[in-house]
Amino acid sequence: MARPLCRLIKEDFHNTSKKEFLKMVDQAGFYCKKCGRTAKDEKLLCKPKKIQV
Ligand SMILES: [Zn+2]
Repeated sequence: MARPLCRLIKEDFHNTSKKEFLKMVDQAGFYCKKCGRTAKDEKLLCKPKKIQV
């Protein structure tokens, strides 16, 4: 995975590759400080931060 999810979403990834997208965001443990997106793997985000409530 070379490009972060943050950028893929701008290319409509969440609709064109819905299954892949759902796998990436299922049980997300990280969020992006810049975009507010969430993902399972920090490598998928451009400014990852661990989710701690
Ligand atoms: Zn981001």
